[in-house]
Amino acid sequence: EAPHPTGVVEPRDKAALEVERIRQDFPMLHRRMNGLPLVYLDNAATSQKPQAMIERLRSLYAEEYAKVEEGHSLSQHATKVFEEVRAKVARLIHAAEPREIIFTRGCTEALNLISRAFERSRLGPGDEVLITLAEHASNFIPWQMACEDSGATLKAVPVTPSGELDLERFEQLLGPRTRIVAVSHVSNVTGTIYPVKRITEMAHARGIPVLVDGAQAVPHLPVDVRDIGCDFYAGSGHKMGGPSSVGFLYGIASKLEELPVADGGSTMAETVSLEKIQPKPLPHKYEAGEPCFGEAVAWGPAIDYWMDLGMERIAAYEKELTAYATGKLLAIPGVRVLGAETERISVLSFTVQGVPPKELEKELDRRGIAVRAGELDAEPLLKALGTDMAVRASFLFYNTREEADALAEAVAELARLH
Ligand code: PLP
Repeated sequence: EAPHPTGVVEPRDKAALEVERIRQDFPMLHRRMNGLPLVYLDNAATSQKPQAMIERLRSLYAEEYAKVEEGHSLSQHATKVFEEVRAKVARLIHAAEPREIIFTRGCTEALNLISRAFERSRLGPGDEVLITLAEHASNFIPWQMACEDSGATLKAVPVTPSGELDLERFEQLLGPRTRIVAVSHVSNVTGTIYPVKRITEMAHARGIPVLVDGAQAVPHLPVDVRDIGCDFYAGSGHKMGGPSSVGFLYGIASKLEELPVADGGSTMAETVSLEKIQPKPLPHKYEAGEPCFGEAVAWGPAIDYWMDLGMERIAAYEKELTAYATGKLLAIPGVRVLGAETERISVLSFTVQGVPPKELEKELDRRGIAVRAGELDAEPLLKALGTDMAVRASFLFYNTREEADALAEAVAELARLH
């Protein structure tokens, strides 16, 4: 299929995304890298930023900055704008109430928060935590640590050779002592969308709570936590146009209320004595110390930007662009794209026979193309897919078919040279 001349792709039944116009709103996309126009394909690591977010960061610090707490007028205003963004995140993922959103520095911190709360209250010798082999290090290591410290056992659902979860094994691994299931929504290596709703149903049928790592889903897909039915859901703001240190943990209010606090410190306790504390109500009991106030507030206009484009339209565009790029790469002799030939979103990882991934990364960098190569924070998954390292290209709605072509041309040239 010929690349579309303007980079505008018409998703079926949807109005087109005007990508060239969208690109004007992201200043970083106009810089050069190594003297060439930047082709930014590292969105799974972090996204570039819309002007509206950058401007909000400036105006907040220049005109509205104060401590987020009750008190003087500036603090009251700061609290109001902070809480407005909390409500926006709740709307984005269809949470029932804003107090179900805990702001964190990122998805990693959210996953550590929940694993620590579980370690403190739910895990002991003989208990089990069930993750999958496809997890990013951030949904793997915190659970490994929680198990190590509590005496619980960490189990992992295997993946098929094409990178899909083995749901039959999953069902078998759900045991009477499984205390939580922790699973990614979208793979940061293959872009596979995992069946989190089905997984939640299967776990809930046995009374087991489910945590979903949505770092690679929230910026790319409509997410409805109540439709999924999961108990907890973690996401990252910096992968969705936000500043570098913002993310969130969602939890059903009653579930978060039942769990103990994870971190202690200022602003999370109602009363404090030497013997014990009385935690504040949600969400504050989980936000110890100074929160990521400026980052969260500036993330707000980025969330608006995404929601104005429409998450359905974003998903349709990105699925199509990812499929287009996958097809282009698969046509190059020696290229292997990791994962199933099924629908993927935003992320695709590949290897080129005879060319080490790190060398590909360096050569693509010289050509102005930013990708990521290495273990991709998912060593167990890469091993299961038969490789130690891979190159990852990851897309967002501001990427174009021309950029996918540029990647494919460069990879074809490098494959030929070796
Ligand atoms: N989970 C997945 C699947 C990811 O891809 C990432 C980031 O790459 C994370 C968690 C960590 O997110 P953060 O950078 O917000 O801590």
